[in-house]
Amino acid sequence: MSRRYYIAGNWKMHKTRSEAVELAKALVDGLKDGKHKYLAAPSFTALEAVGAVVKGTNVRLGAQDVAAEEQGAHTGEVSVLMLKDLGVQTIILGHSERRHTYKEDDALVNKKVKLALKHGFEVILCVGETLEERENGQAEVVCESQIIWGLAGVPKDALANVVIAYEPVWAIGTGKTATPDDADAIHAYIRKVVSRLYGADAAENIVIQYGGSVKPENVAQLMSKENIDGALVGGASLKADAFLPIAKFA
Ligand code: PEP
Repeated sequence: MSRRYYIAGNWKMHKTRSEAVELAKALVDGLKDGKHKYLAAPSFTALEAVGAVVKGTNVRLGAQDVAAEEQGAHTGEVSVLMLKDLGVQTIILGHSERRHTYKEDDALVNKKVKLALKHGFEVILCVGETLEERENGQAEVVCESQIIWGLAGVPKDALANVVIAYEPVWAIGTGKTATPDDADAIHAYIRKVVSRLYGADAAENIVIQYGGSVKPENVAQLMSKENIDGALVGGASLKADAFLPIAKFA
């Protein structure tokens, strides 16, 4: 098994450039001896400044979204070419805030996934059910469908650059966390879906992060589960003294 823990921070729409640089410096310093894989995903406006801090370190530079087109008349959008120019290595796609607040559907997410992979980026594809879907017993089927459509047309040889983040919508920013067993059950199901689509070896190797109110107090229990390979962290990624203990969980 070649899976390695991958801890990512999604800073969402927080932090000016100077605040982002301060946090990035604290992460680089605090994670110098970190054993896992790390990512910081600031807002577009702070990418260049944070990129300068993390360059050559063990903290990757991530973007929180990208346009579905390479370039053209798309007011307000940011393209893969621009992200590449800034040294971005990873793009988070299909985050529930994009899906639900900005109405991104699976077809749009899929277009972005394919474009990002074509340009050599690593993609973190977020999937997850709403509370209503969970209560209706649809958690698995929702994740399955988001994976099937999100990865439609993605060839097996591109899968090494794909990470899946299981983020139950009801657990994001709410303080509610899936129990480690519940999360692990969905992760195991996701691995089955990947196995069906790409084969057992691909399923064994794909990294599946959990996201949803991950904190220093619950990270070790979540990561102890067989199918949980890392975390995508929102709120707790905004302060070094919360993110570092998560990133360096024992
Ligand atoms: C997220 O938005 O990806 C997330 C997991 O947020 P939080 O950690 O704040 O729940």
